Amino acid sequence: MFVRIDGGQGEGGGQVLRTSLSLAMVTGQPFQIENIRAGRQRPGLLRQHLTAVQAAAAVCGAAVEGVALGSTGLTFSPGVVRAGEYHFAVGTAGSATLVLQTVLPALMLADGPSRLTLEGGTHNPAAPPFDFLERTFLPLLGRMGPRVTVALERYGFYPAGGGRFTAEIQPVERLAPLALGERGAVTGRRAIGLVANLPAHIAEREMATAIAQLEWPAEARAILGTRNSNGPGNALMLEVETAEVTEIFTAFGEVGVSAEAVGRHAAGAARRYLHSTAVAGEHLADQLLLPLALAGGGEFTAVALDGHATTNMEVIGRFLPVRFVVENCASHVRVAVA
Ligand code: AMP
Repeated sequence: MFVRIDGGQGEGGGQVLRTSLSLAMVTGQPFQIENIRAGRQRPGLLRQHLTAVQAAAAVCGAAVEGVALGSTGLTFSPGVVRAGEYHFAVGTAGSATLVLQTVLPALMLADGPSRLTLEGGTHNPAAPPFDFLERTFLPLLGRMGPRVTVALERYGFYPAGGGRFTAEIQPVERLAPLALGERGAVTGRRAIGLVANLPAHIAEREMATAIAQLEWPAEARAILGTRNSNGPGNALMLEVETAEVTEIFTAFGEVGVSAEAVGRHAAGAARRYLHSTAVAGEHLADQLLLPLALAGGGEFTAVALDGHATTNMEVIGRFLPVRFVVENCASHVRVAVA
């Protein structure tokens, strides 16, 4: 029996598809999806989503139908998950970190270690930047058992792409539940201005705006200039470290958007986080749901839940017998998995 998924439900983005792929691989349940990314300006499979489907199919020997660029519906019948060496290339600047996140749940529960090479975008708007994966998401996953380390070989920004990183995955048989209460005291703050093949003053202006708004000390600034990228690229990453988590709030430089606007954008997200006592910002919140559901228990606090989080809960509930309990507290939301 196919699990039937409406790709246009709720947020209606790529995550509906990726979560379905991840959970089909782990649970062995086939699914049929329609209206893929119906909530997006360019619906259907873009290269990033196509690569995610192909990667998922390769890892579990799935039979797939309807998979082509632009396709708005497909079926995916998983086989057996095989750990090992894999190479997945998006072929454009599309996010390679999202491709990794698609196959990671199955490989972190596989019967042996895996080594992946991923190519595409490493720092994309609307996707987890490599740094977020490395320092925010994977350390928390590590506390649930699996050891996943990533190494950046080359930056990949839109539109040139060409980024590359590796991931080593040491799986576990079962995930341990994770319980993240209140965040506690801030132990470190960094404003990292990343500029690839672009002048340093862009990053300087972004960092100056952000640290002025947040009233962070000048020493919090760290400029990261690189030529290890096919094209130009710029991002401002604001890191907040506590005993529980290192959260990273990223804003991307774009043609036609001033460095000051980029600085304000990232600072706004960091400020909302700092005003709450939650462990997870909105992006981390929607990404923690799947591992916690697979663990069959756990809880965390989040600044707020956005459309990605509520939609992801619905999709997860189609594959796993879990219940999410959401409690609104004064300065944050508490999410428990039962
Ligand atoms: P979708 O829009 O459905 O393709 O899903 C995008 C995914 O990327 C969601 O899990 C978001 O939380 C995540 N994401 C988007 N922007 C960021 C960011 N700046 N930092 C971390 N994760 C992000």
